[in-house]
Amino acid sequence: MTIGEFLAAKRDGREHSAADLEWFAAEIRSDRVSRVQVAGWLMAAYLNGLTHAETAALTQAMAGSGERLDLSRLRHPVVDKHSTGGVGDAVTPILLPIVAACGVTMVKLSGGGLGFTGGTVDKLAAIPGMRTALSMDEIIATANRVGCAWSGQTSDLAPLDKVFYSIRSETETVSSVPLIASSIMSKKLAANSDAIVLDVKVGSGALMKRLEDARALAETMIQIGNSAGKKTIAVLTDMNQPLASCVGNAVEVRAAIEELKSGCKGRLGSATVAIAKQCAAAAGIDPSTVQQVIEDGKALQKMSEWIAAQGGDADVVNNPEGVLPKAKNTKTVSANQSGWIRGMDCEAIGRASRHLGAGIEIEGQAIDFGAGIEMRCEIGDRIEEGQTVFVLHASDESRFEDAERMLSAALQVGEKAVPAPAVYEVIGSR
Ligand code: URA
Repeated sequence: MTIGEFLAAKRDGREHSAADLEWFAAEIRSDRVSRVQVAGWLMAAYLNGLTHAETAALTQAMAGSGERLDLSRLRHPVVDKHSTGGVGDAVTPILLPIVAACGVTMVKLSGGGLGFTGGTVDKLAAIPGMRTALSMDEIIATANRVGCAWSGQTSDLAPLDKVFYSIRSETETVSSVPLIASSIMSKKLAANSDAIVLDVKVGSGALMKRLEDARALAETMIQIGNSAGKKTIAVLTDMNQPLASCVGNAVEVRAAIEELKSGCKGRLGSATVAIAKQCAAAAGIDPSTVQQVIEDGKALQKMSEWIAAQGGDADVVNNPEGVLPKAKNTKTVSANQSGWIRGMDCEAIGRASRHLGAGIEIEGQAIDFGAGIEMRCEIGDRIEEGQTVFVLHASDESRFEDAERMLSAALQVGEKAVPAPAVYEVIGSR
């Protein structure tokens, strides 16, 4: 096989064998293929698609391109969760302790922010002292002692995904179901849990804007997981508006803690509970335990234990306002017309939060952990002109003007509308 023959096969819409895809992965890892050739193949795969067999083989080749976590010293089953990325997606900080309080071992590795979506690493790094890069031994020790462990992803986990991902970002080949599915699942297979629960986001603040596309992505990822012998379940959740009542890092963690303390009744809580129930069920635990540990305070207690075990200031659970960092400045944004909020450009809200300093716009920029947006409105609300609809937080005041413009344009005001449910459906649970 030559690289020319390999590229021509996908250009002409032919199917690769698993051996050919493994060969391609090995050639890239050995620097015998140029970035231009990888870009050419990604564009051909984007346009001509990959069959299920090709997607599964590509995922295995990507998962095998680096280390696989050795979880043999953990109490099994071990459950992992992954979100396809959204805005105000503060599920992980409360899901982990909820599921661990139910008696399930959870190990979760997260990436940083991706485009307009926030990164869990940045959110948890906002907790003073919280260690975001644990060694394998520390992950095992923490998960065995507390029931859950979380860490930023190591650079040797599915490194081929990093190569593909940066080229996909530069060549407009991100939004392809097989390429997204193989990217996500390669990291999940390398992380080596027994079960994987996927939170597939749908809507204006998600990669998948339409329910049918999200379903196709979920089904592809489930097939990959099942063919690798992992129980894989997908929960399709709404991302037509931010999930938490705040978007950012410290503000989002605070919103998540408040949601847990008030019984997980809001949109963030409902999505988290639905995902937690699937994690419990995948581990053979009665899903009703989830509600019990939220109501009897065991989940909150577990959250303190977990944060302390990772070096963080556990008092954040009792006093988030006092412990979490704050941006130097705030600014309110008022509605410029009266009416009903019938929709939001949720992606624009994510971009505005990033612009305020909560994410990285230019390589090398430092995160402003206190920056972000407090949502003072939801889809379905009636608002009056002049009413506060957002509160902005930023250390750099010059960021407010553009963020305010982006946010004002993000609200669609008109006829009365019913918000979408937080959770659409669950696929793959038996
Ligand atoms: N998240 C990933 O890890 N990869 C993608 O391609 C999209 C979202």
